[in-house]
Amino acid sequence: MKKVDILISEVGPRDGLQSLAGIMPTAAKKQWINALAAAGIQEIEVGSFVPASVLPQLADTAELVAYGRTIAGLQIAVLVPNLRGAQGAIAAGAHKISIPLSVSEAHSLRNVKRTHAQMLDEIAAIAELVQAQPSATRPYFEVGLSTAFGCSLQGPVPELLVVQLAEAALKAGCDEVGLSDTTGSANPVQLRRLITQVWSAVGKDKLCGVHLHNTRGQGLANALAAIEMGITTVDASMGGIGGCPAAPGASGNIVTEDLVFLLEAMGLETGINFEALCAARAVFADAMPGTELYGFTPLAGLPKGFEIN
Ligand code: ZN
Repeated sequence: MKKVDILISEVGPRDGLQSLAGIMPTAAKKQWINALAAAGIQEIEVGSFVPASVLPQLADTAELVAYGRTIAGLQIAVLVPNLRGAQGAIAAGAHKISIPLSVSEAHSLRNVKRTHAQMLDEIAAIAELVQAQPSATRPYFEVGLSTAFGCSLQGPVPELLVVQLAEAALKAGCDEVGLSDTTGSANPVQLRRLITQVWSAVGKDKLCGVHLHNTRGQGLANALAAIEMGITTVDASMGGIGGCPAAPGASGNIVTEDLVFLLEAMGLETGINFEALCAARAVFADAMPGTELYGFTPLAGLPKGFEIN
């Protein structure tokens, strides 16, 4: 991969598409992934290894992993809910596997029907499987601590529990943990406090990425706070797709296009070409007409005279 200041991990094909009612045809997904990579996106979460009966929108994930692997320099990430999903991800050849561990146990039971203890057992089993792979093909294994900033079921989430679960996930054998603001509750002060606490418990190299939502309009403020602290990977989705049904008119994930403009305007290299990114947005819009796309910069255009890659 090309050296960049901030790695933007595009999660639209997974996080975005799974929340849309329509199913994007596989051929169109490939065209979209190709356009995203051509724009300079270096990591794409292409899908999730869950049964097609649960998420028919992502039933073609294995095929997309195989396709993504043919694009030079592109890191292919997938989400898995359990060991079985990890087996599928490894068989398909994913470069990076993420499993969500909800800090809110109420959310964990609703989302994956498992307690914290059961999830930590699953994480240990996946870690064992990952470590048994030959080093040349061994995927990177991340645990995403979801609802880390608050939960729509249980309300506030204890910060100490986030730290304890980060430690437990690493002890179970994952490579890294990430912090996810699943419900769009975070604010920059809370985010700085939590990152500081997790870093002091597990070390700075074990938490490098955040997954933020823009449900209440705080997404870019939180992303900036994380980046100023030294976080180097930020998840985002094209057009902010993945909208939260609980917040009409608000995007779910932070918008890739606006994040790229923010970072490049501040002189941080993302490796992404804005015009080509807008071309990828057009590929998506053509394939999924009627899907609401968010983002201010694609509508306003870049400021006059602004040079970006
Ligand atoms: Zn998300």
